[in-house]
Amino acid sequence: MRVARVRRRGPADGPRRRAGLALGLALLAAAAGARPAAAGPLSVVTTSTDLQALVEAVGGERVRVESLASPLQDPHVLDVKPGQLARLRTAALLVRIGLDHEPWLARVLHAVGDPRFAPGSPHYLDASTGIELLQAETPRLRGDAAGHVHGFGNTHYWLDPENARPMTAAILAALAGLAPGERAAFEASRGRFLAALDAGLARWTAALAPWRGTRVVVVHESWPYFARRFGLVVVAAVEPTPGVPPSPAHLAALTGRMREAGVALLLAEPYSSAAIVGQVAARGGARAVTLIPSVGGDPEARDYVALFDVNVRRLTAALGAGR
Ligand SMILES: [Zn+2]
Repeated sequence: MRVARVRRRGPADGPRRRAGLALGLALLAAAAGARPAAAGPLSVVTTSTDLQALVEAVGGERVRVESLASPLQDPHVLDVKPGQLARLRTAALLVRIGLDHEPWLARVLHAVGDPRFAPGSPHYLDASTGIELLQAETPRLRGDAAGHVHGFGNTHYWLDPENARPMTAAILAALAGLAPGERAAFEASRGRFLAALDAGLARWTAALAPWRGTRVVVVHESWPYFARRFGLVVVAAVEPTPGVPPSPAHLAALTGRMREAGVALLLAEPYSSAAIVGQVAARGGARAVTLIPSVGGDPEARDYVALFDVNVRRLTAALGAGR
């Protein structure tokens, strides 16, 4: 089915109604009884491969996880297949990025029509809860274009590896809520994941240390969390508003400013328009590098830690080549 971009209602909408719904769902869950100890793996559906990787990092072989979006597509736009709807109907848990990251999910949930997948339910996890959002204070143009996203703050928060701590804490709580007998196993798995993450953070910070303060231009605003963590400075985006393609006038002004400012690097995604990336890099005098925003977007980016290994390697190669 084709699912158009639809603006999700804001986080401030209807707290009283949501609290009532949460209580009702909690009572329903309690009435359904505890999960049998001998049950098979928990079936989990996520909206992204990054969330899938984090659920697998905590759940190990006790979960079976499927992502609705593939890693090589624009996460804000998605064609959900009937088989995926069927999988969601039988899932024990839905994990999403939240805010307006997945404008297509409202239509998917409407089609599935399952009250378990609603805020406050133990079967629904919005991973943005507890994340300190960037660009949440930026005034956004509301009425202009259908493709506009990031209306409540930047949603690409999984690209700061430090955010994997609160995200996996929330995942652990959700999984343990559904399978209380497995809590210790989930905690042990998360502990191993965080140890690997800490080692990774030391490695990535050291590799990018010589490049702190480097000014970059991005195609889409996917990288503010990554840039803040590792000291890159995002000075402009090719998209004038997230999700809105640039006009020729915008591109001309941008590439002029890039030359004046001596911007060395243009960060693109695998699904960026190759024509626009080539044009901006050539006219702006910058080197284009394609980073991988999601696990599985490169065969070597097979899990969450490997995703950052791949991106840091690509970045240091591009920066080193420009010297
Ligand atoms: Zn975005």
